[in-house]
Amino acid sequence: MNILVTNDDGVTAPGLLALAQEMRKLGKVIVFAPDKNWSASGHVKTMERPLRVREVTLADGTSAFTSDGAPSDCVALPLLGLLDEKIDLVVSGINPHANIGHDITYSGTVTAAMEAVITGVKGIAVSLDSPDGFKGLLDYSTSAVVARRVVEKVIADGLPKDVVVNVNVPYLKENELKGFMITRQGLRVYRDELVVREDPRGKPYYWIGGESPTGIDESGTDFGALKAGYVSITPLQLDLTSYKSMDVLGKWGF
Ligand code: MN
Repeated sequence: MNILVTNDDGVTAPGLLALAQEMRKLGKVIVFAPDKNWSASGHVKTMERPLRVREVTLADGTSAFTSDGAPSDCVALPLLGLLDEKIDLVVSGINPHANIGHDITYSGTVTAAMEAVITGVKGIAVSLDSPDGFKGLLDYSTSAVVARRVVEKVIADGLPKDVVVNVNVPYLKENELKGFMITRQGLRVYRDELVVREDPRGKPYYWIGGESPTGIDESGTDFGALKAGYVSITPLQLDLTSYKSMDVLGKWGF
């Protein structure tokens, strides 16, 4: 089993190391991650400039590949044959914040897993629902174990075709987890605000600020599961068609 581990926070992120170390219990791990933070970069394909790849050493002394491309580039490169190994599975994370509801369309963590699925390889994204405004070193131990348990299940039972598995883990100790819940995408509530300031030359600049997003606490959703202390596992599909709207638009009469 060759497992590609990537993320959107950059190759030095502690969540990546925690994930790689836990995945090593399941097979050969290849770490291939961006050389900078690409959080909230969405699904990227770098086409207008060349990509560079180099080998680096992680904090535990193991080697990894890094590139100046986006998370999805870091999946595409090895899957297109940059490495000799055939990759069986791509695991992305562990992101330090939850990726739920509409976050998924922004998330570099999830789009790395999507890139795998587009190429026909299984893709799993793992994110930690860390407390709002948390300062200091996050504890990834529970989320890493959860990631391993989900990947073990995927290896043993397989997955339906074209499914991206989006895992979100509450910030709890392993024995405090209520369990695992298969969920649907919930609704995020964004509190973005336009911040306008002036640079030293008197020109305005803009910042998308505001408080962290919250969400609608509904049972059966990713947000609801996390709030209730459960690991949320949402099967995502890349087909974004709104099937129920096809009849409505069909009546446009074109
Ligand atoms: Mn991130």
